[in-house]
Amino acid sequence: MRLLTIAAALASTVASVSAQDYPTRPINIVVPAAAGGPTDTISRITAAAMSKHLGQQITIENAGGAGGTIGTGRVVRAEPDGYTLLIYHVGLSTAATLYRKLPYDTRSAFAPVGLVTDAPMTIVGRPDLEPNTLRELIAWLKDRGAKASFGNAGIGSASHLCGMLLMSQLQAQLTTVPYRGTAPVMNDLIGKQIDTSCDQATNTTGPISGKQIKGYAVTTKARLKSLPDLPTADEAGLKGFELGVWHGVFAPKGTPPAIVQKLSAALQAALKDPDLVKRFNDINTEPVGQDRATPEAAQRTLASEIDRWAPIIKAAGEYAD
Ligand code: ASP
Repeated sequence: MRLLTIAAALASTVASVSAQDYPTRPINIVVPAAAGGPTDTISRITAAAMSKHLGQQITIENAGGAGGTIGTGRVVRAEPDGYTLLIYHVGLSTAATLYRKLPYDTRSAFAPVGLVTDAPMTIVGRPDLEPNTLRELIAWLKDRGAKASFGNAGIGSASHLCGMLLMSQLQAQLTTVPYRGTAPVMNDLIGKQIDTSCDQATNTTGPISGKQIKGYAVTTKARLKSLPDLPTADEAGLKGFELGVWHGVFAPKGTPPAIVQKLSAALQAALKDPDLVKRFNDINTEPVGQDRATPEAAQRTLASEIDRWAPIIKAAGEYAD
């Protein structure tokens, strides 16, 4: 008995010493989407700023596919020691319902660190698409139906959710084309291989400004500072259409609370870093307020978003597996 007590005391001393020293080696952040896409860009900017505050290098590992569930699963199964983390978005909460055979329970699989940003989305088309306004696009899509294509990053991705909302509002069924992320969707839009998509402004601002693709609307309540001529979907013909893409940092369940607190403090410092703020603004997004860059806020958002999307997905009756 005494031996056990001593062993337990020793183990907890070792854990608290290692939490105190943390991090002593590079941290790996898994991003379950293709390199060069919006989630990857947001993650790299966030990781660079967190790394400054943690005094350790942070590497990014892209593991896209199956609506982000492959990369997410890798983090869920990782050693909960603070050296493997996840940055992902709203797709975490939709996958919980879309994938009936997920090998983890999204609600309890993580020690959340905090939220990062809410990225606006944009409805976009190939550069030579006939319609020039959202109203014209709506008529064109209704008329073409399944003859029109819509690229997305797979079931459960933000682009997929945006497409589902669009189709349900238009009462039209488009042909969806899944990719491993929206970076390759963008290439195929620019290359005129597909007709339309909906992607985070972080990925579309450059191509819209450079006229490589057509921008029809932004999906948030307010217009974007750097694309002031782009109307909101609500004002341009899709009443009530609204979708922002929350992103957060998550550690696997069982990560020592002292490490989660250190990560959360580094995230809060990162989100105040003028370099991060500028780089986020350049891609048309903003850091969340400090009160949302916390474990509690990320846990609340994850749970409430699972609750919000579950009935919508169940009513649509479309599952990934
Ligand atoms: N997060 C995906 C990406 O970065 C895009 C999406 O969810 O639609 O490629």
